[in-house]
Amino acid sequence: MYGKQRIQDNTMIDTHVHLYDSAFNPDRDQVVERAKNAGVTHCILPAINKSTYAAMQECLKKYPGFCHKASGLHPTSVKADFRQELDHAYSTMAGAVAVGEIGLDFYWSREYEREQINAFEQQLEWARDLDLPVIIHSRSAFPELLASLKKCTYPCMRGILHAWSGSREVFEQACRGGYFFMGIGGVVTFKNARLAETVRETDLKSIVLETDAPWLTPVPYRGKRNESAYLTFITRKISLLKDVSIEKVIGQTTQNALSLFFKK
Ligand SMILES: [Zn+2]
Repeated sequence: MYGKQRIQDNTMIDTHVHLYDSAFNPDRDQVVERAKNAGVTHCILPAINKSTYAAMQECLKKYPGFCHKASGLHPTSVKADFRQELDHAYSTMAGAVAVGEIGLDFYWSREYEREQINAFEQQLEWARDLDLPVIIHSRSAFPELLASLKKCTYPCMRGILHAWSGSREVFEQACRGGYFFMGIGGVVTFKNARLAETVRETDLKSIVLETDAPWLTPVPYRGKRNESAYLTFITRKISLLKDVSIEKVIGQTTQNALSLFFKK
């Protein structure tokens, strides 16, 4: 047990990284190498849509045991043809450790609001039927998110509210629907982020680490391409905010992610 604990204290899980994105085409091997050197042992790769699936699959094949698949349809990819996209996403579910990323995004437009809600609720049902966690993306959609979670809740609903940008209160309301972790990434390192306050108020037992790479790069590399090795900047910031050691941040968040994705 001691040996196992030691490993968990020093290793991190990037619960949200789009390593298959073309931004990594020039040097993906080195990106993976740097992540491993930084202590990252597992990456969860959330799906976006049909057009990005082949690249994701290639990445999963290339880094077995390191990259793990989530299957689903991203809310910003929900358009008029969402039923075909959903059929495709469902057909790729074998071997997935989660249904994701799914959710609601009304930041850009509400044109497909009805369709987004339909697709989200349909995929929550898959997670229930397949007994898998969900990776939820929510942007400019908190009332609708809470309504769908309330409507679709089931006893083992669990997952991550990824790139959380809401308050502690909204997080708690979402947790009435299921057992959720708050996905914390680079945004926590930005100056004056309201998120800092939310993280301060939230128990480490409810937090998991993520980069959302190649996007949402933490300070000091904000504006450049993100990668999993930069989890170190995120763990450092969380440790400062919560006034606990970096080891404690890493140990607890890794345990959280392991329990969610890799233990039945
Ligand atoms: Zn994402």
